[in-house]
Amino acid sequence: MKITCFTVGAFQVNTYLIEDETTGDAAIIDTGETDELVQKLLSINPRPRIQKILLTHGHLDHAGGLVALQSQFDVPTYLPRKELPLFETLPVQGDWFGQPSFNRPCGRIDHFVDDGDDIHLGDTKLRFISTPGHTPGQGCYYDEQDIFVGDTLFFGSVGRTDLPMGNPAIMQQSLQRLMQLPGHLRMHSGHGPVTTLAYEKQYNPFLTFLRHA
Ligand SMILES: [Zn+2]
Repeated sequence: MKITCFTVGAFQVNTYLIEDETTGDAAIIDTGETDELVQKLLSINPRPRIQKILLTHGHLDHAGGLVALQSQFDVPTYLPRKELPLFETLPVQGDWFGQPSFNRPCGRIDHFVDDGDDIHLGDTKLRFISTPGHTPGQGCYYDEQDIFVGDTLFFGSVGRTDLPMGNPAIMQQSLQRLMQLPGHLRMHSGHGPVTTLAYEKQYNPFLTFLRHA
């Protein structure tokens, strides 16, 4: 799988173009909150063959640019099923940060994903693991080499749980499950640099509870 990261918008969110290397079939993971990602994608030559849009969760920096993206790439869009209540607050999420200019329309969801679901992209198979806590339904998409974790986990940190619909106790359970996946997986977060699950398990100060389990 070929992975290109575009860091966009006021929140410097990492969005991803992933491409199956056999077929060239491509997908986008997360959107940013503006049309900046769209402009970057349109400038790629040859144009990537985008078949799907996958959302990790419903925060405005990850899903607020969905309408802009769908206006150029009208492809099936996937959202974790349990994330719908949060996703539907996009029109008021800017208010949460005291910035109503960040309020966004919701965009169209075509498929809901549940824990254990597989999503096919050419010869690549992505599995979905539900990791709620930062939000009610956030999840991660992974294959044998790479995992896209949204705001579940970061290099040296974890997603905050103090925003509306966050839940610290459920977050601990999710992190525990996530760390049972193979350590060699390269971890691509919603913000910050690439790392691996094994590195975070060993050095992330927010995961020390796992080492004493
Ligand atoms: Zn978030």
